[in-house]
Amino acid sequence: MTLEERQKNIKRAELHTHLGSSVAPSSLWAIAHDEGIRLPMKNYWEFADMITMAKGKKNATLNEMHNNFFQWTELIQSSPNAVYQSVRSVISGGYRKCNLVLQELRFNPMFRNRQGERDLDHIITAAIHGMEKAMLDYPQVKAGLIVMMDRTLTFEQNEIILKKAIKYKNRGVIGIDVAGPQSSEFSMEETSILFEKARQAGLGITIHTGEEGSLEELDYVVHKIKPDRIGHGILAVKDENIMKGLVENDITLEICPTSNLLNSKVTTVDELRNIIRTLFDFGVKITINTDGPEMYKTNVMKEEDFLLENNILKEEELEICRKNAFKASFVREV
Ligand SMILES: [Zn+2]
Repeated sequence: MTLEERQKNIKRAELHTHLGSSVAPSSLWAIAHDEGIRLPMKNYWEFADMITMAKGKKNATLNEMHNNFFQWTELIQSSPNAVYQSVRSVISGGYRKCNLVLQELRFNPMFRNRQGERDLDHIITAAIHGMEKAMLDYPQVKAGLIVMMDRTLTFEQNEIILKKAIKYKNRGVIGIDVAGPQSSEFSMEETSILFEKARQAGLGITIHTGEEGSLEELDYVVHKIKPDRIGHGILAVKDENIMKGLVENDITLEICPTSNLLNSKVTTVDELRNIIRTLFDFGVKITINTDGPEMYKTNVMKEEDFLLENNILKEEELEICRKNAFKASFVREV
């Protein structure tokens, strides 16, 4: 198959991408100017460099990733109109770039409300409108929104986010997540009550864990919370008991290869190969994602090509990953 045929003819799903790292710099530049945001530069190319990972650029920590990139994209996206434009562009763009006929897009509404100045309901409904418009423009596409809680927010703030997710459950919100760098204030045990409420309300549950930090948190999530999916979860290869738990509890991993390398969670391609092969050969269900196609200058097809070229997965194994993604999606009417 030629590149163009692979781009157009293979149906793909992406389950793990963040609004803050998925909007093209040109769109964010336009939105920033529409919103009258004072950017630290007047030159577009400098701006594009600031919010994307240039070749050779790496984040030493997730904190660095957040401070360098997300603080800008989230600021620019902090209005209903900006969220509408952003969501619309990501879902449309994913389809055009690599035939994403199914896309789940995640964001934290509380990081887009200017510390409470903007109303969360307006932010969330703007995201839903943007998604609906993209699906109207590209009727082949199905999509859903995952609302995110964060380790750096208080339990009460995360509870508010969950309540909003439940409120919009039948209107485009399909799941709940928690992300953010490790924080001593945060307790997964305490937060598990919120996941239980989400489950009772019928939301899909995915949790950012096992990307860094302790194996204990990953172990707790796998054996006690038992979410439908886990964002990353790559530390599982260090403990067979955790991999067993993933298989037994039918938890699908959202693997983001380039993101892991650029955020220094995995240092070499050999290490990445070992992780992905170990999970795949153990029978853990994995899916291939970007974590943010624009920031990491990739897309799901490019991620697949990277895995093929580096003898990490074979074409038929990638097909299994694609099937896993469609099956593990929280968007039900696929
Ligand atoms: Zn992520």
